[in-house]
Amino acid sequence: MSDTIHRDPDCLFCRIIEGDIPSQKVYEDELCYAFRDINPQAPTHILVVPKTHIPSCAAVTAENAGLVGHIFTVIVRIARAEGLEEGGYRVVSNAGPNAGQTVPHLHFHILGGERLSDRMS
Ligand code: 5GP
Ligand code: ZN
Repeated sequence: MSDTIHRDPDCLFCRIIEGDIPSQKVYEDELCYAFRDINPQAPTHILVVPKTHIPSCAAVTAENAGLVGHIFTVIVRIARAEGLEEGGYRVVSNAGPNAGQTVPHLHFHILGGERLSDRMS
């Protein structure tokens, strides 16, 4: 797992991670940052992002797969802490225009707190 953090000064989420733009922090460690979505699509809607700039899940490689695995362990911990484990929750990562990705920095949505739509698209 690389320790190097790459930042894109023009990237919204890099700026949130830096603290240049305020956010409601849920969790942070040396590799990732989690915060509440500004426009929640469910009662609980949290974004988990790597601190290093990776454009999307389409840029996951053997080199950064360890980081992505770490983020998933964090997702599980956050879901537990938010009381989502029993009812269940959804983890989503949009890649590219057809998926409606609006921020080109890899992020995982954690959605829960109610019965989510059966339709995922
Ligand atoms: P995407 O559509 O790229 O998968 O998800 C981007 C998410 O970032 C959206 O759910 C959107 O509401 C959220 N978002 C966009 N700008 C901000 C912001 O400034 N702060 C926070 N907390 N969330 C944001
Ligand atoms: Zn970024």
